[in-house]
Amino acid sequence: MKLHGTKNLNRDQIDALIASRLNILHFSKPIEKMYRKQYRSAAAYEFRYRAPMVLFLYTFLTVGVYNNISDLYIRSEWLSLYKWVGIIVSIAWFCSFKKSWSKYFDLYTSLGAIGAVSITFVIINLLATAYNTALLHAAMMYAVVIIYSFIGMRFYTAIIAGWLGGIIGIIFSNYYNLYIDWTYLNHTYIFSSFLGMSLCYVIDRQHRENYLQNCIIEATQQEITEQSKLLEELSLLDPLTGLANRRYLNRILEAEWTLALKQQTPMSMIMLDIDYFKNYNDTLGHISGDHCLQAIALVLKAITNSGSEIAARYGGEEFILVFPQTNSAKAKEIANSIMDQIHKLEIQHPDSPIHPYITVSLGIVTAVPQKDDLLSDYIELADKKLYEAKKSGRNCYQIAHNSDTII
Ligand code: GH3
Ligand code: MG
Ligand code: MG
Repeated sequence: MKLHGTKNLNRDQIDALIASRLNILHFSKPIEKMYRKQYRSAAAYEFRYRAPMVLFLYTFLTVGVYNNISDLYIRSEWLSLYKWVGIIVSIAWFCSFKKSWSKYFDLYTSLGAIGAVSITFVIINLLATAYNTALLHAAMMYAVVIIYSFIGMRFYTAIIAGWLGGIIGIIFSNYYNLYIDWTYLNHTYIFSSFLGMSLCYVIDRQHRENYLQNCIIEATQQEITEQSKLLEELSLLDPLTGLANRRYLNRILEAEWTLALKQQTPMSMIMLDIDYFKNYNDTLGHISGDHCLQAIALVLKAITNSGSEIAARYGGEEFILVFPQTNSAKAKEIANSIMDQIHKLEIQHPDSPIHPYITVSLGIVTAVPQKDDLLSDYIELADKKLYEAKKSGRNCYQIAHNSDTII
């Protein structure tokens, strides 16, 4: 039986189930509920293929018994009653094809089983003679063993169905004052019930073990998926600032460039570099330098908050921000906002020749990419603009104009 494991169980829970719950064939409540749901649909599906086998064996036995009953009246009486077992199996078979009925698998198979056992039981009390007793008992034993081990019922359901069928048979026989041969029944019904129960126990346990093994596979797969997701994220992020790293930036840049080319929309890029950062490190130390980078990264992250915008750490203290569908006026506004927010951080820079606080310089480029344009030229132009900002005194930005190569 193919039982899909569930993702909801972790390894510890599975180990605990194997250790404590497998032998008693009952998991703890919520897990048992998940298992049964799984089991019912798998069992109903499998019954579609088992039922013809059961019917074949049933027909084989029916023909055998029928041919061996010499009394013609008893023979036809027997067939008219025993045929109901075949009808019951056929009805259950039909039910198994209705997917939405699989939740009633326990119900229809156990009702069918109760019916089949009680019929075969009553037949014995009704029709047994000195010449056919063994045959009729064989037919009943056969029905009992089939119910326990072929239908695919759970152990406890099968026990209820198997014994309840017998009890109903006894009640019925008593009601109609039929003769019950207890000695014979002890050897046949009780023996076949215990045999069936043992088989059913082993099968149920095996199903549960399969289920737990599949749960382990599911849990392992989930762990692998989560780990690879984490690894992928880590491989795309800069560990110090948590911003996109260069690899991620390249990926996004290329995608956005292609989109902007296709849609012919402007795309803006800002290259940012901290002013006199070497001095900052030299006076306040590298740890303070790292904190400063992290504080600036937070500002940049907050600025690029929409889905396709991205802030990346391009180099040591250089950052690139990409703004798809953004014209140069909007890019200018963004640049002002970045500078403003970084000033507001008021990070003391004792060794800056231009300002008491940390400042940044920016190079801005806006372009509607054309067919033969190269993304690398575009980045180079931003770098050039940044260099110009540095040259023109720092703490400012420079924008690429129409006279520049790309605009
Ligand atoms: P400019 O205004 O021309 O940009 O001057 P600058 O001193 O900022 O420029 P430069 O490129 O000479 O120095 C960059 C410094 O950034 C050098 C290096 O010590 C520092 N830096 C690069 N990466 C890190 C880092 O991860 N942590 C720290 N604390 N400092 C870094
Ligand atoms: Mg610098
Ligand atoms: Mg630099």
